[in-house]
Amino acid sequence: MIKGTFPIKKFDALETPFYYYDIELLHKTLDIIKKETENKPYHIHYAIKANSNPRILKEIAAYGFGADCVSGNEVLRALEYGFPAEKIAFAGVGKTDREINIGLDNDIFSFNVESLPELARIDFLAKQKGKTANVALRINPNVDAHTHKYITTGLTENKFGLNEQDIPAALQIITQSAHLSLIGIHFHIGSQITDLSSFENLCVRFLELQQQFNEKGATLKTINVGGGLGINYQHPNHCPIADFEAYFRVFEKYLKLQDGQTLHFELGRSVVASCGTLISRVIYEKQGVSKKFLIIDAGMTDLIRPALYQAFHHIENISSDGGLTKYDVVGPICESSDVFVKDIWLNEAQRNNLIAIRSAGAYGEVMVSQYNCRELPKSYFSDTL
Ligand SMILES: *Cc1c(COP(=O)(O)O)cnc(C)c1O
Repeated sequence: MIKGTFPIKKFDALETPFYYYDIELLHKTLDIIKKETENKPYHIHYAIKANSNPRILKEIAAYGFGADCVSGNEVLRALEYGFPAEKIAFAGVGKTDREINIGLDNDIFSFNVESLPELARIDFLAKQKGKTANVALRINPNVDAHTHKYITTGLTENKFGLNEQDIPAALQIITQSAHLSLIGIHFHIGSQITDLSSFENLCVRFLELQQQFNEKGATLKTINVGGGLGINYQHPNHCPIADFEAYFRVFEKYLKLQDGQTLHFELGRSVVASCGTLISRVIYEKQGVSKKFLIIDAGMTDLIRPALYQAFHHIENISSDGGLTKYDVVGPICESSDVFVKDIWLNEAQRNNLIAIRSAGAYGEVMVSQYNCRELPKSYFSDTL
């Protein structure tokens, strides 16, 4: 059984649970993304919500990438850790006045607008400040991302984005305003998408929609296709980096850009998921009626994805080479959904063995809570441990 390599001796001195980030793997991932997009009119806006740990943000910002934010505080955090305002895209269905004003005051790259009332509100607030807001219309392309229902966002009846029939009204608001500048169009069809044909369909839909805009006299300078590229949660040791080459090739092939157009990507999970691991210790091994439970000191308060989306994370006992034993790995939280995985084969475990929950770098640390009055997990980095 191939397992990840971890500095176990160093872990011994640390209180569990904690997040451990492999900075070398993060760099390798960022290097590939950079290589695949440089010399093309492609721009990356890292989706801050996947992981907003300051160290991680600084690493990503150092590559010159932009940011995708979904709250005013994310905009402020992106600025604080080195993302330039002119590369910040701001999405979200419920932007408040305070949040819109943060974007206006900092002259961000774009407001990705999700409803007609929001468009009118941005116009009103921009007018108050005597500014012009760059807006991109987030359209629901009605493309099925073939992913979990909680992370599908591109279907018609959905709280996110504008529907196709809203386009004329949106264009009318923009044309009549002296404070709105239409820079383009935005999509985000969902997350953890591993079937690349969903992105092909998105490209085809874009070309149809572009024609509609052009017929109404509107040109689209920026095309933002959102994020959503999935990673391999099953095999973190064999496939630690998403297939960015194949991903970008889809857009190159199916989305022919016109002169002067730029293509924007808001990748989150695929950038940071693999480099993060939640490290935990075994508290008890408990024999049930017909199965064994491994009770560990990490719970859904430290990593909620399994409880929230039935998400799978590969788990390893990194302290033991003992015979393989079947376990349900569970946390200590007083909720029946506090289960990391059922019926998994692990090296036989003993109290205090270290358990690695892999691919936890995205939507992990950002979603921690203090439910049950728990401590928040700390984070450590491979190059400074
Ligand atoms: C969450 C989100 C992303 C990032 O999605 P990933 O699946 O993590 O790549 C990009 N754009 C928007 C608007 C989002 O809400």
